[in-house]
Formats: sequence, C-alpha cells, structure tokens
Amino acid sequence: MCGIIGIASNKSVTPNIIQSLKKLEYRGYDSAGIATIVNGDIDEKKCTGRVDNLEKVLFKSPSNGYLGIGHVRWATHGAASQINAHPHSSEEVSVVHNGIIENSNELKKDLEKKGYKFKSQTDTEVITFLLTDFLKNFNLIDTINKTLEKLNGSFALGIIFKKYNNIVVGARRGSPLAVGYGPEENYLGSDSYALKSMTNKITYLEDGDVCILTNNKVEFFNSKNKKINK
Ligand code: GLU
Repeated sequence: MCGIIGIASNKSVTPNIIQSLKKLEYRGYDSAGIATIVNGDIDEKKCTGRVDNLEKVLFKSPSNGYLGIGHVRWATHGAASQINAHPHSSEEVSVVHNGIIENSNELKKDLEKKGYKFKSQTDTEVITFLLTDFLKNFNLIDTINKTLEKLNGSFALGIIFKKYNNIVVGARRGSPLAVGYGPEENYLGSDSYALKSMTNKITYLEDGDVCILTNNKVEFFNSKNKKINK
C-alpha cells in the first residue's frame, strides 16, 4: 500500500503536496518523493524514509512548480532504497503508483529490447517507459489508454508530462483514487483524508476510469475513451 497525491494549481504545489503526503504516511513510509514541472522540465526529488526527510531535501533544493505529484512508498517490488522511491521519471513523464503490475517482468524485457534503460527494481518504472514510448507516436489520450491496456494488476496512478505541462493525469484499476476540487486548483489522492485540509468537495474515480486535472477543470474518461459527466 502506497499513498499518492497530484495537484494542478496556479501557485506552487509543493507545500500542499508535502502536507498531504504527511497524512498518507499511514499507507507507507519506506520512502517519499515529489515531481513538479519547473522551467518546462520534470524536477524529481526523492529520498528514503519519511516525509520529514523529503522536506529537508526540498529545503536545500526547492521545487516550485505549479503542478506536481507526490508519493509515500510501501515497497512491493525492489528494496526500500532511494533509487526505488517514486516518482519514476523519464525526460518526458513522471509517474507515482499505488499497486502491483503483475506482468512487469515481461513488459520490462520488451522495453529493454527497445533500448530503455531501467534505473530501479520496481514494477512501476515500466509504466514510465510505456508512456514515454507511446508518446512518440500518439496523442495524450491514446498514449494513456494504450499504456493502461498493457498493464495487468492493480494501480492508482498520478502522472505528469513535460509536453502537456498544465495537466495532472489520474487513473485507477483496483487501487483507490479520490478527486478534489479547490479554489483555482484541483487534486487527486489515495484517500479523502489526504485532500481534506484543501477541500471538502471530493468525488471518487470509478474503477477503470481516467481523469485529467488542470487548475480550473477536471475531466473524466472511461476505458473506452468516452467522456463521463460527474
Ligand atoms: N509496486 C510499487 C512499488 O513497489 C508500489 C507499491 C505499493 O503500492 O504498495 O514501488
């Protein structure tokens, strides 16, 4: 069990991500991490141990993006090390994950054949490279759907993209994911408790659905790519 958070805002998201991660620590405290978009690039910071340690990293090297994702980990695949801490990022995307990708070994072999070099021992990093690979030839929605189709197992995901730098994407199958609406910012999180200090306007993503957050809008799609009204 891990905890994930994602925020799209019109101001720096780091303080609220840290605050929410502290509320999610009951779900995992092997490591903590955050990724935001800073000056058009993905800025990833992570460490072993609790969110306090991540705060120390951010104190020395602040991260002031207007959208971002965060994670506290309870390891299932790979040791509780810094390299295995989430987010898992490429140049193009950054991913936080709660769940287990059962076919990660097969997917990893295919991606390695294509030249992708894995840094971690996690099952999650395959998601990062699948998204990166599909992005080369497909638009955002097709990239997400084609990636999710490849995955067996359970997941709640928070994803940010270098190319689509005003959105946070959420998706779930088997693992929980809540969506919150705030003042000129929107949130996703593993539970409503993580979002409560920011908003009490909360809904839940249905199994198999995808959501796309900007700072002033949340859109929902089902697995057949059909837009859902909530
Ligand atoms: N399987 C992922 C990992 O080990 C996520 C862990 C979880 O959700 O418990 O990093």
